[in-house]
Amino acid sequence: MTDAADTSDALGPLARRVRRSLNGDHPGQTGTMLPPLVDHHVHLQLTDPDAAVARGVAAVVDLGADPGAIATIARTEGLPHVRYAGAFLTAPGGYPAGRSWAPAGSVRELRLVGEGAGEGAGDAALEHRALAGPIEAAVDEQHRFGASVVKVALNASAGPVFDRPTLDAVLAAARSRGLPVAAHAEGAGMAALAIEAGVDVLVHASFTERLDDALVAAAVAGGQAWISTLAIHVRDDAAAAEIAIDNLRRFHAAGGRVLYGTDLGNGDLSPGVNPHEIAALVRAGLAPSAVIAALADPWPERTADWTDAGVATFVPDPAPAGAALAEPEAFAAWLATARIVPTEELEPR
Ligand SMILES: [Zn+2]
Repeated sequence: MTDAADTSDALGPLARRVRRSLNGDHPGQTGTMLPPLVDHHVHLQLTDPDAAVARGVAAVVDLGADPGAIATIARTEGLPHVRYAGAFLTAPGGYPAGRSWAPAGSVRELRLVGEGAGEGAGDAALEHRALAGPIEAAVDEQHRFGASVVKVALNASAGPVFDRPTLDAVLAAARSRGLPVAAHAEGAGMAALAIEAGVDVLVHASFTERLDDALVAAAVAGGQAWISTLAIHVRDDAAAAEIAIDNLRRFHAAGGRVLYGTDLGNGDLSPGVNPHEIAALVRAGLAPSAVIAALADPWPERTADWTDAGVATFVPDPAPAGAALAEPEAFAAWLATARIVPTEELEPR
């Protein structure tokens, strides 16, 4: 077998050897065709998506925005294709309420299930409780604005969080409208809360504490998916990166569904297919074929129809071969040269 044949096998069933047609740009150039690629965690109100599209990302999932604003952005013609959560749902006074980066109208503080008038609470807590709205109405609002997923913030490191009955009520309200729930879990016990309650997706591979193997197994058994967002930790906090990569390694090894996502909009990140995210996924034990599957996963939809509108991903040769394929930086550098091209411009080889 040639190196090229070895490489196609390692890239998995979603990859095909192609040549660019004589009619388009770069006629005759050889490379690899992949499905349209998805960044499953972005904030379009905090970033310009054009740069990401120019560098190979065809579809994105916005996980926290003003629902009216993101619905308008998503209706815009052209790439990227957008699915979205709408607002962050959180406890009264909970993350990210009051954060300077949080766009106006992007947070809904919800009344906790069974909460009384707030006896014994301080002035600030009382003020937040007065603003808090009912769960059903908040979920219904996101649904009416066209959300494909409901986002909850469970950040015990930065304020109050939902208790289990309230999280259960949010899950029930979302499911009755056919929507999955995705959680930002941060701080002691928050991943466990989300996993035990049956939250569908963690929007960050857990990065604040090591999850024990039994909890990781419960996440896998429950069909939970984890969005990677490893590059933000590699950039900001080596200890958090190590924890997240270790958790994700064991989740993937146990059969967990990994979704590629960067949290684009969170500070300075390389737009498009992010080589730091890819290299960290390889370090977490994902083979090239698994990295490609994480990039092409149609979540939050069941099928890839929404990402697939006459475009494909083209990654030019030379693809790394042999030992270089398992080398995180070499594979990441190659994959980050991905570009979006019209499918009709690619011919099988
Ligand atoms: Zn985010």
